[in-house]
Amino acid sequence: MRGVVLHAPGDVRVRELDDPKIIEPTDAIIRVTAACVCGSDLWPYRGVEEVHDQPMGHEYVGVVEEIGSDVTTVKPGQFVVGTFVAADGTCEICRSGFPSSCVDRVFMSEVGTQSERARIPHADGTLVATPGMPDADLIPSLLAASDVLGTGWFGAVAAQAGPGKTVAVVGDGAVGLLAVLAARQLGAEQVIAMSRHRTRQELAVEFGATAIVTERGEEGVAKVKELTGGLGAHSVVEAVGTQQSMRQAIGSTRPGGHVGFVGVSHDVALSGENLFFSQVHLLGGPAPVRRFLPELIDLIWQRKIDPGRVFDLRLPLEEAAEGYKAMDERRATKVLLTI
Ligand SMILES: [Zn+2]
Repeated sequence: MRGVVLHAPGDVRVRELDDPKIIEPTDAIIRVTAACVCGSDLWPYRGVEEVHDQPMGHEYVGVVEEIGSDVTTVKPGQFVVGTFVAADGTCEICRSGFPSSCVDRVFMSEVGTQSERARIPHADGTLVATPGMPDADLIPSLLAASDVLGTGWFGAVAAQAGPGKTVAVVGDGAVGLLAVLAARQLGAEQVIAMSRHRTRQELAVEFGATAIVTERGEEGVAKVKELTGGLGAHSVVEAVGTQQSMRQAIGSTRPGGHVGFVGVSHDVALSGENLFFSQVHLLGGPAPVRRFLPELIDLIWQRKIDPGRVFDLRLPLEEAAEGYKAMDERRATKVLLTI
């Protein structure tokens, strides 16, 4: 089968890979319909993380081709959405709502899903079948549910977005934009999107943002306070993962408020003293997407949300290298690979 490997930083290749096989009785093999390039794929692409001939990709939708003898919830022929962390769904951590920290978890980025087929470990705890074969126009939104929507949703839930709340979102990548959508769906009254890019600001407004803040850092914090009676937002979603964005998120949160931080953290160091006096709740990490997936699929299936709009570039698998380049150069927010 054909699949994407990152040969070295900046060097994306599509090459012939071994066809996946059932290894464990809990595995499934899927034929991937669409995959995408994630902001987190850019870290190894930029050489921030060590890499050599790594199969790439962890977001995917597709059709089940084969299942192991212990798989009970999906069957061949079904269209499925999978999460970026494979989880058994049965351990205490999974049952408490945190399958992305499952005791038996497998990061799908270690398997690679930017390929024609993929082996999905723990199929029962990882895949959710759609009610039927989706119309083609639903596929981008279902694919978004696999990671960026689920992650934005978790950010909003972790930040306790809900009725009566003012939510601020730091970061205007796909996850930040979908955190805006999530905050509105969860009933937030005001949603402040922090963005400097016109097209992303427009999408944020379409997804439900009620205010846009273009300032960053201390100025951004001051602007959020100005919009919230000097207090800061009740709920802040951090969707970047840098020192500046984390400080901006904590600084924008009122005492007693909640920060949901879902940007993959890189070299963030927090001052204990600032943290102490900020008096905020912090919850973040890899999103437990499986917890939200049935609800998200239902919202998409009923066409109540259209998160697939974050994809602004579609390319065939063979042109994956251009997809990475476009995201790296910020010419694209999110790239969909058709397979
Ligand atoms: Zn588990």
